[in-house]
Amino acid sequence: MKSVAVIGASLAGLYAARALRAQGFDGRLVIVGEEHHRPYDRPPLSKAFLTGATADQGQLALADAEEIAELDAEWLLGTRATGLDTQERAVLLDGGRSLTTDGVVIATGATPRRLPGPAPAGTHTLRTLEDAQALRAELTRGPVRVVVIGGGFIGAEVASSCAALGHDVTVVEAAARPLVPQLGDTMAGICAALHADHGVTLLTGTGVARLHDGGAGHRVTAVELADGRLLPADVVVIGIGVRPHTAWLEGSGLPLDDGVCCDAGGVTPQPHIVAVGDVARADGTRAEHWTSATEQAAVAVRNLLAGRTVATHRSLPYFWSDQYGVRIQFAGRRLPTDIPRIVEGSPDDRSFLACYERDGRTTAVLALNRPRPFMRLRRELARAAQPVTT
Ligand code: FAD
Ligand code: NAP
Repeated sequence: MKSVAVIGASLAGLYAARALRAQGFDGRLVIVGEEHHRPYDRPPLSKAFLTGATADQGQLALADAEEIAELDAEWLLGTRATGLDTQERAVLLDGGRSLTTDGVVIATGATPRRLPGPAPAGTHTLRTLEDAQALRAELTRGPVRVVVIGGGFIGAEVASSCAALGHDVTVVEAAARPLVPQLGDTMAGICAALHADHGVTLLTGTGVARLHDGGAGHRVTAVELADGRLLPADVVVIGIGVRPHTAWLEGSGLPLDDGVCCDAGGVTPQPHIVAVGDVARADGTRAEHWTSATEQAAVAVRNLLAGRTVATHRSLPYFWSDQYGVRIQFAGRRLPTDIPRIVEGSPDDRSFLACYERDGRTTAVLALNRPRPFMRLRRELARAAQPVTT
């Protein structure tokens, strides 16, 4: 393989580029990114960057100048891939250009889902640096009424940051309780209680009917719920999930189904094309977390360079979230029927460690503000789930 193009210049793309060089690839490496920035870290955008604790965008950089030089890559930033011709091994770029390449790493991530209908001024989604800057600008003009639609990760973290800035915050969640798919009902309930602890109203079991504005071109004034309630709002943040960035691959022949379908090694039916990060549906599952995006890259690159699947990604799923000064950490593979058991601390103190159990076996571990014992248990669980090489 003489040339590889990495499409998507963010977390998974950078880790793929690092892995290519670390695994001895010394050919032409081109990194194509729609954003104008070098790879930066998204987790602070809903946390320290939004509150202003980390206001310097330079602190978000995922790679310093020295590493960028060492990668010896051609960066095509502000450039969108518009198509993939698998026969000609060419990536089509906006502006009518194309890039011929032996191998392709698809790392185009995901984009926020939007509500149907127009989005009046004052309505925000949060994915990019520019999104965070625009939202932050609204939050530093004095106290405002913020309605957050969606109580998942973005919703909970943004609500927490807005509350820390002194705003009046309401979270609207369609499900009976947020984070149940990730944590199960009991543990999700404990996390949901963090909102009330900090004066944030959580309204569950109702969707949004529409956004009200003050007339054509005016700002948002209220959120009308599906049950008819009207919530006055100066700022609305929508965190209702993401859609993987696959539109550019339509017609390429690659299987697409809420992501790029690939095997557990990130390899698509075309062995010279691999997918990593939020866009990859690997072995039927699409992860949307930082750690999986980084871990998948090394495995997928290994397979790309081998020309077939020689390794699979089986690491233990892990994520963290910071809400209201509480670090929530979860690792493992739990089923809805697994029973959580508190093994240390107390939910009342918002500081505890819980193990999810199935047939007397621990399948997953959750901690609120217990990082050290959590990491120990995570390591123990991970030992049984090392990457498998065939
Ligand atoms: P992305 O980061 O989405 O990057 C994809 C890149 O590809 C983007 O730069 C995009 O512009 C580019 N692109 C898309 N289409 C094209 C195209 N056609 N051509 C060229 N370029 C293209 N995870 C955690 O585990 N813990 C956290 O605390 C946490 N906090 C988060 C906070 C926020 C605000 C957000 C948005 C995410 C958070 N995440 C967190 C999730 C984590 O950041 C993602 O899982 C991670 O960014 C995925 O990386 P990625 O490279 O796959 O995709
Ligand atoms: P998410 O975690 O999927 O949560 C979206 C939430 O919004 C779900 O609870 C969903 O409920 C609810 N919802 C959907 N439609 C709604 C509607 N019309 N009205 C009210 N609620 C609605 O997605 P996200 O919070 O938007 O986060 C976006 C991405 O960033 C995800 O990939 C996430 O993993 C990532 N992220 C991760 C972290 C972290 O790991 N700490 C932090 C921030 C962001 P249903 O489930 O019932 O649909």
